Amino acid sequence: MNAPTSPAAAVPAPQLVRGACPHDCPDTCALLTTVENGRAVRVQGNPAHAQTGGVLCAKVSRYAERTHHADRILTPLKRTGPKGSGQFAPVPWDEALDDIARRLGAIATRDAQAIVPYSYAGTMGLVQGESMDRRFFHRLGASLLHRSICSTAGGEGLVHTLGGKVGMKVEFFAEARLILIWGSNSIGSNLHFWRIAQQAKRDGARLVCIDPRRTETAEKCHEHLQLRPGTDAALALALMHELIENDWLDHDYITRHTLGWPQLRERALAFPLERAAEVCGLPVEQIRRLARDYGTTKPAAIRLNYGVQRVHGGGNAVRAIACLPALTGAWRQRAGGVLLSSSGTFPVDRARLQRPELLAGRAPRTINMVTIGDDLLRASSPAFGPKIEALVVYNSNPVAVAPDSPRVARGFAREDLFTVVLEHFQTDTADYADYILPATTQLEHWDVHLAYGHTDVLLNRPAIAPQGQARSNAQIFRDLAARMGFTEPCFADTDEQLCRQAYGEAVDFQKLLDDGFAPLPVPDAPFAEGGFPTPSGRCEFYSERLARQGLDPLPGHVPNHEAAGSSAAYPLAMISPPARNFLNSTFVSLQSLRDIEGRPLLELHPDDAAARGIADGALVRVFNDRGSYECHATLNGRARPGVVNGLGIWWRKLGHGGTNVNEITSQALTDMGAGPTFYDCAVQVEALAES
Ligand code: SF4
Repeated sequence: MNAPTSPAAAVPAPQLVRGACPHDCPDTCALLTTVENGRAVRVQGNPAHAQTGGVLCAKVSRYAERTHHADRILTPLKRTGPKGSGQFAPVPWDEALDDIARRLGAIATRDAQAIVPYSYAGTMGLVQGESMDRRFFHRLGASLLHRSICSTAGGEGLVHTLGGKVGMKVEFFAEARLILIWGSNSIGSNLHFWRIAQQAKRDGARLVCIDPRRTETAEKCHEHLQLRPGTDAALALALMHELIENDWLDHDYITRHTLGWPQLRERALAFPLERAAEVCGLPVEQIRRLARDYGTTKPAAIRLNYGVQRVHGGGNAVRAIACLPALTGAWRQRAGGVLLSSSGTFPVDRARLQRPELLAGRAPRTINMVTIGDDLLRASSPAFGPKIEALVVYNSNPVAVAPDSPRVARGFAREDLFTVVLEHFQTDTADYADYILPATTQLEHWDVHLAYGHTDVLLNRPAIAPQGQARSNAQIFRDLAARMGFTEPCFADTDEQLCRQAYGEAVDFQKLLDDGFAPLPVPDAPFAEGGFPTPSGRCEFYSERLARQGLDPLPGHVPNHEAAGSSAAYPLAMISPPARNFLNSTFVSLQSLRDIEGRPLLELHPDDAAARGIADGALVRVFNDRGSYECHATLNGRARPGVVNGLGIWWRKLGHGGTNVNEITSQALTDMGAGPTFYDCAVQVEALAES
C-alpha cells in the first residue's frame, strides 16, 4: 500500500490510501480510500484497525459521493445578492484573499476583538481544526471562542470527578456482564461500541438503555428506562441510595480511592427510590431492579454519552453517574467503570500547534459559541467589549446548529457584519457569507486525529488532489497570514509539518505513516488502584475546586430550566437528538441520505397527539416564545408521554417554512462548562393545515 507525501504528489494517485474519519463521532474510524484516475471511488473501513474492524457507518461510506458531489463549492465566491439570499459569483483567490485581509485589517486597527472566529468539529482533525487558524487569530488579537456547543458540561463534570476526560478502554466492554448504555443511541452515533456491546450480549451480558427516547438502541437492549429529560442525576442518586441501603459497596475501594464519601452518602440517602421515581417519571420497581443489577453484577460498565448533559444540570448529571463505579469498586476490573470520553488520554501538544504566545500578552475577550445569537445583536459596551464586526466561520454551520436560530439568523443578516465562511457546500450559514472560500475535504488534505471513544492516534493522508480550487483550512489561514504581514516562522509550517508537531515525540510518527494509526500505551484497568488525575489522586465525590467556584461540591439533581410540566403554555418537553443519517448538519447535503430520512419529523406519544387532534404524518407547528418550527408528526412509538423528539439537524432552507428544530431551542447555559441546553426546551404543538 503506497501513499502520497503531499497533495501535489497525489496525482497520479495510489490505489489505496489510509486516512481517518474526521467527523464528530466517538469512533474515529480508520479509512481506506480507493482511488482511480485521480478520483476517490470508494471509502471503506480499514480492517487492520481493530476499533474500525473494516466497517463504516452509512454516512461516511458515502464520503466519495460527498467529495465529488456536483454541489461542492470549488471556487471562491463573493456575495452578489442580499444577505441570506444565497446569491454569489465566482472570484479569483487573490481577489478574495486581498479583500478579506484588507477588511479584517481595517477592523483590527480599531479593535481586533471585533473579529470573531467561529468553528467546531466539522472536522475533528488537529491540523484543519485547531492549528494554523488559532495561530492566525492569536496573532491578530481576535476574540477567543469558547467552543462549548457539544460537550463542555459533561467534560467539566468528568474533570471534577475523575480528573479528566478519561475512562474505560472501550474494547473491554466486550467482557462486561452488565452494560448501562446511558444517554446514547449507540447504533446511530457510536456504532463500533455497539458492535462491542453486541459481543458482550452474545456472551451473556445484560444491556440496559437509559434514554428519554425509545431509540433503535433501546429497542435492542434487554431493558429500557425511558426517563424524563434532565433527570439522570436523580436516577444516579437513587441508585447510590440503594447501593448504600443494601451494602452493595466496595468499602475498601471507597476508603482508599475516593474523596468525600460521608458527604455523598448523606446526599444520596436523601434520594430514596420514590423520590427518584417521581422526578424521573419511572416505576419504582424499575429503578430498584436497575440498582440491584448494578450493585450485584461484576463487571459492570457504563457507556455514557453526551446526550445527558445538554440540559441545565448536565455537569451534575455526569458527575453523579461517574461516581457510581467507585462506589462498587467496578474500576478494579478492566471491564468495569465508565466511559464518556477518552480524549483526555491523548498527549496533544496544543501549545505547539496553536501558539498562544502570539497573543503577546494581550488577553482578548471570549465569546461563547452557544450565545452567538445574542452576541451578534449586542452593541459595544464596557461589559461586552466591541460590537462584533466580522465573523470567520469554518468547520461549523451555526445558522442551522446554534440554539435559538431566529436570533442567530437575525445576527448573520446584519448588513454591517463582514462574514467569511470556509465550506464544502452552500449551507444555511454560507448563504449569509460575504465570501465563501472552498475548503478541501478529508480525502484532499493531511491531518492527524485523537479519538474520544478509543485510545488510538490516527493519521489522515490526502488520497486525491484538492478538487477544483479548494484549499485546506490551514492553507487558507496561511494565505491570509501572509497578506496580513504576519512574518513569524510558524506561519510557514506546512500541513504535514503540523501533523508531526501535534504529538511531537509522544507518538511515533513513522508508525502513523506506516500503519495509519498508533495505539496509546494505556493500562487495561487504569484506575484499579486509584490514581485518578484529580488534585487528590482520588475519585472526587466532593470537589474542592467546585466549592471554590461557588458551585455545589457534591453531585446533585439540578432541575431543567424548562422542566416538563413547569409551564402551562408549553407543557411538553422537547429533546432534539440527531437524525441517524445526518451527523449534526454535515450530511444533509447528500440527497441520498435525505431520501432515507424523508422529511423533518417530530416524534410524539399517541396520547399527546390525540389530545391535540394530531394524526400520524400530520403537519404540525412546534412553538414557544422563541419561535415556531414546522415539521411532520410521527407516532412511531419512540416518544414518551409529555416529551416530544424533534430530530435534527435539517438545514433550515430544506425545512418546511424555512425552519429547523433550533428555531425553538434556547441559549440558556448548563450548570458547568457554559454549555448548551438543547434538550431543555418546553414547547407546545398544534396541527397545521397543509398548504
Ligand atoms: S462510525 Fe463515526 S467515526 Fe466511523 S465512519 Fe461513521 S462517523 Fe466516522
